[in-house]
Amino acid sequence: MSKKNILGMTTEELKNFMQELGEKPFRGKQLFKWVNRGVTDFEEMTDFSKALRAKLNSAAYVGSLQVMNVQEDAKDGTRKFLFGLEDGNAIESVFMQYKYGNSLCVSSQVGCKMGCKFCATALDGFTRNLTAGEMLEQIYVAERETGKEINHIVVMGMGEPFDNYENLGKFLRLLHDPEGKNMSYRNMTVSTSGIIPVIEKFSEDFPQVNLAISLHRLTNEGRSAIMPVNDAYPVDDLLESARKYTDKTGRRITFEYTLIKGENDSDKDVELMKQKLSGMLCHVNLIPLNKVDETGFDGSTRRRAEEIAAQLERAGVAATVRRELGSSIDGACGQLRAKNKSRC
Ligand code: SAH
Ligand code: SF4
Repeated sequence: MSKKNILGMTTEELKNFMQELGEKPFRGKQLFKWVNRGVTDFEEMTDFSKALRAKLNSAAYVGSLQVMNVQEDAKDGTRKFLFGLEDGNAIESVFMQYKYGNSLCVSSQVGCKMGCKFCATALDGFTRNLTAGEMLEQIYVAERETGKEINHIVVMGMGEPFDNYENLGKFLRLLHDPEGKNMSYRNMTVSTSGIIPVIEKFSEDFPQVNLAISLHRLTNEGRSAIMPVNDAYPVDDLLESARKYTDKTGRRITFEYTLIKGENDSDKDVELMKQKLSGMLCHVNLIPLNKVDETGFDGSTRRRAEEIAAQLERAGVAATVRRELGSSIDGACGQLRAKNKSRC
């Protein structure tokens, strides 16, 4: 019998698994607690008999991510992890410290299909979806490596989470499970490039999880030029779906707006933002583009970003310029790219 990776299984699935091993189902609940406390060694599961621990050892293992590389930004303590997956692929996660606690930027896919022109992840195309367990394990391994508790997550790493919705949903539920890590849905944020039908589904399934939409441009033609997803889901339809989202959930939405020098940071662009976003229950996160050499784009200056934020604020649109974390290690937004693809 080949061993089973039990990290990422629900309590129900673990109960069935224990039954397959000839054990009582409540053992599955105990196992769920251990696994989601970050324990990987069955010998540490002290409420199991020696015989059961041995049985588990021969039938299962807990998690499979290998830490292949860690880079730390000496200034702010941000750490970028390169994790090797079982099949030889690699992904990245970024650990960040804020006043309110520690946060992990989680990857949802190996690569991405969306092909945004400014993004490092897009450069290598799409390889595969991550499983719920592979998303969850990024948190447990980062906690183990840093010795710090992670109490917030943002699904803003590699990949488009709404293109992997089923696994994303399972991951969010596992993370929220009171018998597991018990993270509040309000401490989770998912970012999408704007897949409208999934936004609608998400508002029903996870009304308490924060939603961020990557806007980056407000003209249809302009947005399509940098984000091909706009051809399928045009920006005005996307804004309409955002409005529906806030009406339905009563929750503020975040719009991410990556500032690209000479592309989307003119006064005209700011006017459009004011026109289209004022009156919405939203917050605009302005992020000067992090330069990715191959893309040919450059970021706006911090000063220009501050100016735009002030203009938006004056027009009643809440806006902030995102604090830059981990820039010395290419650990900032949109710079995640597993260069070291194979462990062989
Ligand atoms: N696929 C999702 C989530 C991952 S990308 C999405 O696109 O929303 C997370 C954020 O990083 C998005 O807002 C994305 O547009 C932004 N981003 C991508 N490349 C970037 C770069 N080079 N500099 C700054 N932000 C970038
Ligand atoms: Fe994919 Fe997001 Fe990068 Fe676009 S910005 S290619 S959607 S990861």
